[in-house]
Amino acid sequence: LGPTVTVGEILVEIMARTRGEGFLEPIDLTGPYPSGAPAIFIDQCARIGGSAGIVACVGNDDFGRINVERLRRDGADVSAIAVSPDYPTGSAFVRYRGDGSRDFVYNIAKSASGLVSLTREAKTLIGRAGHLHVMGTALSIAEIWTILEYAVEVIRGRGGSISVDPNMRKELLGEGAVGERFARMLDISDLVLPSGEELFTATGTTTEQDALASLFSRGAGEVVVKRGAQGASFFSAAGERADVAAFAVEEVDPTGAGDCFGGAYIACRRLGMPPQTVLDYANAAGARNVTRLGPMEGAGTRAELDRFMADTPRRPA
Ligand code: ADP
Repeated sequence: LGPTVTVGEILVEIMARTRGEGFLEPIDLTGPYPSGAPAIFIDQCARIGGSAGIVACVGNDDFGRINVERLRRDGADVSAIAVSPDYPTGSAFVRYRGDGSRDFVYNIAKSASGLVSLTREAKTLIGRAGHLHVMGTALSIAEIWTILEYAVEVIRGRGGSISVDPNMRKELLGEGAVGERFARMLDISDLVLPSGEELFTATGTTTEQDALASLFSRGAGEVVVKRGAQGASFFSAAGERADVAAFAVEEVDPTGAGDCFGGAYIACRRLGMPPQTVLDYANAAGARNVTRLGPMEGAGTRAELDRFMADTPRRPA
């Protein structure tokens, strides 16, 4: 029916080479790495071979170009990525602490991402799309929401489908515009892809059974729960269930695992693969991505994921 489309932020990530606290002294850095949850998602989607594109805005700078070139090289449609002459591409500096938590310095609030608008190219891409994937991170930006509302109407009108990754901070889900946007997305999505804790924060429930019942009662046909190093599970409104044990990998950088999982899931699903195969590819895409430094450096083609699955043992279930 047409490409998978997402809307949202594109940025670069620059990472400390050593673990420790913050950036209060000069340290060795590595990067820039292409990043932004929607960009990671669409890159993985395109690498699988599903037709995929993103509506976004970058600055007229190398941080923008490194992203656009990567996405183009990996097969994504970059025609609806606008270039702002005024604002730079956003960046995030990240350092891991010994306990795995992270310190950040963000330069995103006043970056080109917030200048995204419904350009002629964006309307053309959305007008051809068969699936809309909504990233929770994008819901807090008003300009992005305007485009998402338009995309929902157009893509639904074409008989296309919608998925949502509730990847967002708990504090934003309460009262206010972001909470309302989020509730609306849950009401209209065919497929919801929460990670473990998000299942509960998104539904205000405390058990998996209640959370699933809540999402199905709102109209979702399919819920896929991402469980980090515990793998993932698929549930359908019709009562089907499939589980996968995680691959046994060394986690070098967890950033982007959920986005790669989602990208592979949607791409394989739209290629018509059966649920268990879709889940296997998504599980492999998330696991492969955590083995590489950089948010989308471990995204894999179908052949790379086949090789990864053949070569990597699974953790005991
Ligand atoms: P998010 O990044 O959205 O929090 P998760 O951390 O649950 O999502 O990761 C998404 C998926 O990636 C998991 O369901 C799993 O399939 C895979 N994955 C993530 N971390 C690991 C890991 N340490 N080992 C193996 N697989 C992983």
